[in-house]
Amino acid sequence: MNILFLTPPSPKNIRLFRSIDCSMNTKAAYLWQPYDYLIISSYAKKDDNVSFLDGTVDSLSKDEFYKKLIELKKTNWDIVFSCTGSGAYHEDVPILLEIRKIFFNSTICVLGDVFIDKWFIEDILSKDFDGIVYNPYHIDLNQISKIREKKLKDNTNKFDIESIITEPIDHPFLKDLKKKKVTVVDANVPRHDVFQNKGYSWPFNTKKRYTTVTTMWGCTYSCDYCNSGRMHPIAKTNENIIKEFEYLNEKGFKEIQFSDKVFGVPKVERKELLKKIIEKELAISFSCYFHPSMFDEELLELMKKAKCHTIVIGIDSANLKDLALHNRKVNENTLHKLIDKANELKINVCGDFILGLPHETEEDILRTIEYSKKLKIDFASFNVFALSPGSPDRTKAIQEGKIPENACEETLSNVTSSKHVSGDRLIELRRKANREFYFRPWMFFRRIRRLQSIEHLMIQLNQMVGIIKNNIV
Ligand code: SF4
Repeated sequence: MNILFLTPPSPKNIRLFRSIDCSMNTKAAYLWQPYDYLIISSYAKKDDNVSFLDGTVDSLSKDEFYKKLIELKKTNWDIVFSCTGSGAYHEDVPILLEIRKIFFNSTICVLGDVFIDKWFIEDILSKDFDGIVYNPYHIDLNQISKIREKKLKDNTNKFDIESIITEPIDHPFLKDLKKKKVTVVDANVPRHDVFQNKGYSWPFNTKKRYTTVTTMWGCTYSCDYCNSGRMHPIAKTNENIIKEFEYLNEKGFKEIQFSDKVFGVPKVERKELLKKIIEKELAISFSCYFHPSMFDEELLELMKKAKCHTIVIGIDSANLKDLALHNRKVNENTLHKLIDKANELKINVCGDFILGLPHETEEDILRTIEYSKKLKIDFASFNVFALSPGSPDRTKAIQEGKIPENACEETLSNVTSSKHVSGDRLIELRRKANREFYFRPWMFFRRIRRLQSIEHLMIQLNQMVGIIKNNIV
């Protein structure tokens, strides 16, 4: 079988990331590897031909991208996957239509965070796309490859295929949001070799030869402003992850970015996993997202022994209590214990902050900026609040007539002003936050002390230039 993965070029050459649960224009100079594609590729058989073209990481113009597609047309692709996202859906559609035209006989499945909302599901399916991938697991490539032929022959869009939407229905995950439980999946090793490109990076990497591993996709938490919170959590078995680590060691990978929204779930199993990784000497230097409420001394100690050097935690606001308004519960005491323990273990901490939550005034935002500087953390990521597809906040804004159903926005170019602060002012405040957080002598010396090698220094310098270019100047 021939399987082709595509990422469209991005408007104005921005570093736009598109996946099922997230769309973002990166704040520094990095671009994530397409972790959904990596997961889907684990369903390809050994002799399947898997190929990938990424117009964003290669900074292709639309014409250059189309030229490459015409070359690729020489192969008869059974399935073409393409992604889009709320950061550029309306700009992506003409490119997707061109893809449709070029690969007329192939099954084309799309994926992207916008497809949590019905408007976008209806829109893309009305444009002759064959399916929407809403879950990268349980993918039956053989069944998917037959959709197009049957659709053209029988003029139908009714297919009962797991993880794929082929007709305009409500997103399947929205039905039982309250019953979200971790399900365990048995999956093969993804095709890491296919998705290697020097252009991908992640600011916390300490080495350039890296790849992305997902141990749990989706999220066990359900914060109202986040569309990952709409995705049911699916965890790989420890046996599968150990096999993946054996493969990555064999291939000489030096660094891992875990794409898990919260690393360490399910906790008991993941502690066992870390013990096995340490015992079998498979540890590879890594960074990951972590939730403050997952704080557990033993877990953090095991992570450190398994070569974890950085954790990214959602702190979001100085006023942690008010986050409960958005269904997010973070205990200040636990947060401080986590930061202290990470400092004791010399694990770097990056705090994620949101500026302009709907209830926040400018004073609240300024308090968050001050708070970020008081914490003993190494990095801070300041995001302007945006209405994520599928989030209750977005549904409310549509109902109140504040935004149309087809509105797209992302955290770097917010178009919806919060109740108290305008969109332009939020962007200014984000610049101020970055300037004040990073340009401190204390921060400078801390960064120097934590450097591991010349390679690490070069990665950090590159990211710093990106932060200055995109967020400060
Ligand atoms: S914990 Fe993080 S990823 Fe999960 S729902 Fe909350 S903000 Fe989203």
